[in-house]
This record gives sequence, structure tokens and C-alpha cells, in this order.
Amino acid sequence: MATDSLQRFSREPAPARAAIPIAPTSEHAPSRILVVFAHSDDAEFTSGGSIARWTDAGVSVGYVVCTDGSKGGDALELDDATMGELREAEQRAAAAILGVEEVFFLRHPDGGLSQVQHLKHELAGIIRRWRPERLLAWDPWRPYQLHPDHRAAGLAAIEAVLVAGNPRLFRDLAAKGLAAHRVEELYLFGTDYPDVWVDTSATFERKVAAISAHCSQTKLLTRWIEAMQRCNAAYGLACGCTYAEAFKVLRPFCEA
Ligand SMILES: [Zn+2]
Repeated sequence: MATDSLQRFSREPAPARAAIPIAPTSEHAPSRILVVFAHSDDAEFTSGGSIARWTDAGVSVGYVVCTDGSKGGDALELDDATMGELREAEQRAAAAILGVEEVFFLRHPDGGLSQVQHLKHELAGIIRRWRPERLLAWDPWRPYQLHPDHRAAGLAAIEAVLVAGNPRLFRDLAAKGLAAHRVEELYLFGTDYPDVWVDTSATFERKVAAISAHCSQTKLLTRWIEAMQRCNAAYGLACGCTYAEAFKVLRPFCEA
């Protein structure tokens, strides 16, 4: 949606602080990653350079798009169903550019994700199927995060990680062969409290190409890319590279 995309870059990124370790390149490499987000294009804008870097290294990356994206874009002559189909096609194209293996479309109403009662259960099922070691999601606790879909997607993803790892919960999933699975790391994007910076200098152009696949967002796309570039350059400055993406990292089963 237009408003959320503008909000992503409405503030300067949080500066690196001396007390926080900067680890742009020393991260360990998982073999499977799942990225959960609200709208088509969220993953590319927030994490596209990192995703390209990880898939280049042989990591299997999957996407979960929670809404149908039908309220984004400026082509008012298109009905919601047509816009939703268009945005799915754009999302598949963007995912292919970044080397993403599989895209799950949950197709909940754009703008109404906070009303979806079974989202956590749905996401837990996908986590148990995809079995990622690392999961990326919106930081739902970012101060003044206005978009309800971003808050809802982030919170549901985090809660789904916790229940997906508990074999006593969601036994209906286990009965379908989806055994409990513990995600080792949560990488929260869109955060004001980053503690891991990923050097994306080598994959920045591919990130821009993936964002540009979202053609239906034409009127604002150039402006968003310029804002994203300034943001990623500022993150790069914080950790000594040209471009970077920033995450708040949590280890849900180590810190409990
Ligand atoms: Zn969004």
C-alpha cells in the first residue's frame, strides 16, 4: 500500500551505537530462510539485498505474502481482484530475480490483516513445513509504526515461531505430518533498534531490479527507490560499506 511504503523511509535510520556489535559480514549461514510480510514489495524494499546475497550463497529462501495487495497501486480502473492478481504476478517476478524458491500467498484482505484470527495458525503450519533456521518479519514494536498490516504480520509471525516450536501446541498440524520446528533466529526488519547490518553493496542493483518488478506501483516507485537508496547508504555508512540492510536479531529459544 502506498502509505506504508512511504512510512518505511520517513525517518532517518537509527545510527549504529558503539555499545552494539556491528556484524555486517560475520553472520553464520543458515540453509533455509523464510520471509513473512504483509504486502507484495515489502520483502524487496526492506531485505532484498540480503535475500539476494543469501540465495547466491545457496540458501533456500521462501516468501509468505499475507495480504492480497489489492489496495496498492494507483490504477483505479482495475478492480481489487484484478489488482490482486497483477500484484501476485509482480511478486513472483521479483522473487525470481532474487532467487527465492517458493512464494506462499495467503490472500487476506489488504488493510485488514489485524482482523484475521487464524493468521498465527496459518503461519505456524508454513513454518513447520518450510522448516527455516532464520525467519524475517516486520518489527511490530517499532515506535509509531502506523500500518496495522505491518504490526499484525510481524506479531503473528513472531507468535507463530513460538508455537511452531512447541510440540504441545497445534497438534492438528502434527496430525498432518507437520511436526514441531524451532526457528533459531528472528531477523526483524523495519526496526529502529538494529543490531545486525548485512553488507548488500554487491546485490544492491539486483534489489533495485526486483523492486522495479512491482510495476503497478508506478507513480511512486521512483521516489520510494530513491528513499530506499538513501536509507541503505546510511546503513552502509554505519558499518563501513556502500549499502547495507539492518535487522534486529532475536533468538527465541535461546533467550527464553
Ligand atoms: Zn507493506
